[in-house]
Amino acid sequence: MRLTVAEKTKRLRKIISSLEKRYGRGNFPERNSFVEQLVFYYIFYHANLSGARKALKSFRDNYVDWNEVRVSSLGEIGATLQNHSITPEAAVPIKEVLNGIFSTQNRMSLDFLADEEPEEVVRFFQGVPGARWDCARFLISTLASDKEFPVTEHAKRVLGRLGLAGPAAKNHETRSLVTGLIQPKDYMRLFFALIEHGKRTCLAVEPLCEKCDLQPLCAYRQEELKRLARGKGKKTAGKAGKKKAAAKKKKKTKAQKKRRKPVDRKTLLRKKRRERARQRRKSAKASKARH
Ligand code: SF4
Repeated sequence: MRLTVAEKTKRLRKIISSLEKRYGRGNFPERNSFVEQLVFYYIFYHANLSGARKALKSFRDNYVDWNEVRVSSLGEIGATLQNHSITPEAAVPIKEVLNGIFSTQNRMSLDFLADEEPEEVVRFFQGVPGARWDCARFLISTLASDKEFPVTEHAKRVLGRLGLAGPAAKNHETRSLVTGLIQPKDYMRLFFALIEHGKRTCLAVEPLCEKCDLQPLCAYRQEELKRLARGKGKKTAGKAGKKKAAAKKKKKTKAQKKRRKPVDRKTLLRKKRRERARQRRKSAKASKARH
C-alpha cells in the first residue's frame, strides 16, 4: 500500500510518540567537545540512554581527558563501562576510534569540524581508522543540532520494516525522506527512538514483534501475519485433504483386494468352456456364410 506524504508524516509522528512512551525521550548530553559527543554515540550503541549518560559521566569524572582514555587499557575502559552494566566489549570500538582520531590529527580534538561542510565531515571520517560509517552523520546533525536527520543502521532497518523507506533505500534517500516529513526539531527525537527500538525490540535478526507497539503500523509485521494466516489456511485444507486421501486409499485397497481375490479351479474351467463355446459358434457362423 502506497502512503501519501501526509499519511507518512502522521505515521512518523505516531511512531515517535509511541516509542518515546516506551523508551523515554532522548536528549543529548550537554556537549563538551565533539570527541565526547562521538564517544557518547559509541557507548549508546551498546547501552540504553541513561546507562550511556552515566558511563560518559564516569569517563569525565575519572579521566583527565579523552587522550587518557585512549592510552588506557581495554580492561580499564571496559571496567568503567561495566560499572554501568554495559558490555566491556564496547571498549574495543571506543579505543579504536580514539586511536584513529589521534593518528589522523596528532591530537585528541575534532572541534575543527564545526566549520566544515557536511560532505567534508563525511570525507574526514572515511579516513579515520575505526570510525563507524554512520558516526559522521551523527556528528553532522549535532554540529547544528537540526541540520539533518542522521541515518544509522538501526534507523534504516526500522524505517524500512515500517514501510516508510524502501527496503533497498540508500542512506541519502532515507535522510531526505525523513527531512521532508518532520520538523528539524524532531530529528533527534526520532533518531534516539529508532536506535533504542532497533537495539531492544526491532532486532536485525528475529525482531521481537509480539512485544512491539508498532505492529499495526508495521508493513513487515502485517506481511508476516498474512503469511502465517495463509500457512494456517493451508493446514485446514490439509486436514480436509487428508480425509479425502484416506477415503481414496480405502477405496483403492478394496478394489485391489477384489482384484487379488483367488479364482478357484471350477470357475476357471467354466470360464474356459464358455470361451471355447464362443469360439465354436463364431467359426460355425463364418463357414455358414462362406457356403
Ligand atoms: S512490529 Fe516487528 S518489525 Fe515492525 S517495528 Fe515492531 S519489532 Fe520491528
